[in-house]
Amino acid sequence: MNVNSAEREYMKLVDTHAHLEEFKDIHAIVERARKVGVVGIVGVGVGYFSNLKTLELSEVYSGFIFPALGVHPTEVEKEGEKVFDLIEERAKDCVAIGEVGLDYWAKTSRERQNMVLERLLTIAARRNKPVSLHTRGAWEETYNLVEQFKIKKVIFHWFTGPTETLKKILDRGYYISASPAAEYSKRLRENLKLTPLDNILLETDSPVKYKEVEAEPAHVLKTLKYVAELKGIKEAALAEKTTENATNFFELRFKQL
Ligand SMILES: [Zn+2]
Repeated sequence: MNVNSAEREYMKLVDTHAHLEEFKDIHAIVERARKVGVVGIVGVGVGYFSNLKTLELSEVYSGFIFPALGVHPTEVEKEGEKVFDLIEERAKDCVAIGEVGLDYWAKTSRERQNMVLERLLTIAARRNKPVSLHTRGAWEETYNLVEQFKIKKVIFHWFTGPTETLKKILDRGYYISASPAAEYSKRLRENLKLTPLDNILLETDSPVKYKEVEAEPAHVLKTLKYVAELKGIKEAALAEKTTENATNFFELRFKQL
């Protein structure tokens, strides 16, 4: 990547969306991330066991892995009451509620997706927690719900929705995040072009595959590169800005190494 080593030494990055419980060798993943300047990772949960594992990892790597707890719209039919109890009980220990949202391209019941999202937004509103949102094919519906629940901080992760919804997101002061798909996804690139740097966060959605390559948090460096090219700014400047955004958004307290 076209960053000289002196610049990179000062670069600090945050991966704001990764599914860490899916990795077998988490220690190696953390080491590789730290080597490229990652100072924090927000681990997002998708269901009961995934939330538990994410919490456990955040205790082992405290001040580096920060937990978000949620129920992914594709998982809503597998989850029962205990996931809500867990999120309610551990909300105080997490930096956000997520991954939550609506996905009308998924096969799961829309009614159940809405019910689950509304219950989790109720918790987020009551606990004053930011929300990390997944939305596909239900962009307006998802936006309307977070607005209705008066959620103050929302990140529309890897946002590929339409420009009309993006405008509302930005007017409201909400955020979108860029994944490594910023290299080739037309919708994501278009949305990133229209979004001010103040409203952009970086992520990987690890271990999602991009062009056949499984992502890990160290690849947030790829996201950085593609977004810097797209916005016509230096990687170091973008790293500084997006890390400041992530730190404020999630109120991250990094452990000094
Ligand atoms: Zn995700």
